[in-house]
Amino acid sequence: MAAKIISGTEVAGQIREELRKEVTELKEKHNVVPGLVTILVGENPASISYVTGKQKTAKELGFYSLQDNQADNITEESLLGLIDKYNKDPKIHGILVQLPLPKHINETKVLYAIDPKKDVDGFHPVNLGKLMIGEADYLPCTPAGVQQLLIRSGVETSGAEVVVVGRSNIVGKPVTNILLQKQKGANATVTICHTGTKDMASHTRRADILIVAAGKPKAITADMVKEGAVVIDVGVNRIGKSESGKAILCGDVDFEAVKEKASAITPVPGGVGPMTITMLMMNTVKSAKVHAGLV
Ligand code: NAP
Repeated sequence: MAAKIISGTEVAGQIREELRKEVTELKEKHNVVPGLVTILVGENPASISYVTGKQKTAKELGFYSLQDNQADNITEESLLGLIDKYNKDPKIHGILVQLPLPKHINETKVLYAIDPKKDVDGFHPVNLGKLMIGEADYLPCTPAGVQQLLIRSGVETSGAEVVVVGRSNIVGKPVTNILLQKQKGANATVTICHTGTKDMASHTRRADILIVAAGKPKAITADMVKEGAVVIDVGVNRIGKSESGKAILCGDVDFEAVKEKASAITPVPGGVGPMTITMLMMNTVKSAKVHAGLV
């Protein structure tokens, strides 16, 4: 039987509706408006499109949203000064610096300069460290989105064998840490695979829940998946352009073949992607509440 399709578009829509209500209530009852600034350096088309999507969503939800565009020859010192300004700005609760940055700017230095309490991307080492010890304030957005997809689709994670393919700092490692916590929506036995893993299929075939973030089109084929597994495909690969010039996307999983074997699967696009921006909004609302002393 073909798998149930886990629609990230639908789940993200539900969460945004909840956030919209929460934002209205925060305004009416506490005069608090969540504020998000997105800092874009240069004119990378993909970065412009990501930042535009984030700003659009923030506005739709009723945030105070600010897009700060800087020329690609901005000095590291000026960029750090800008972050310092937003760290001190009481109207701003979330600061997002769109990556990648130009080569002359040290990305790590810039990310470390963001006040961890305004780090709604969840990339600051303080926030990653807190995640590791089970006391996270802000979860990184894509891994948090994966967890929400599982929870809201009724997938039991407690006691499940989870296999994660990919060990990046933005997806693989944090999603592993989230799912192994002794907490609701987690408590799984997690294995992480990477290019140094021997016989990867022997691991993926054991997975009740398989999470793939390798950045390799169709790296996961049907023979690598257990019958009835839940498959979450984080990968976004541009494999060409349509006649109208739109990018053709595919995930890291051979969707057509694997959906015949899995019990549930996320599509690409429309799976994990829509969840990422939504979790950024959720983190910003949380930050606004923390700064207002409401949580
Ligand atoms: P990354 O930094 O390139 O990391 C990829 C990881 O996968 C690495 O750990 C690499 O292993 C591992 N890997 C690559 N090929 C493999 C293979 N054949 N077998 C086993 N492991 C393999 O990528 P990322 O930033 O985590 O992103 C992964 C994918 O998710 C990309 O397609 C990206 O576009 C997508 N993504 C989507 C969203 C979203 O919102 N939907 C957000 C973030 C990323 P090594 O460490 O050994 O090199």
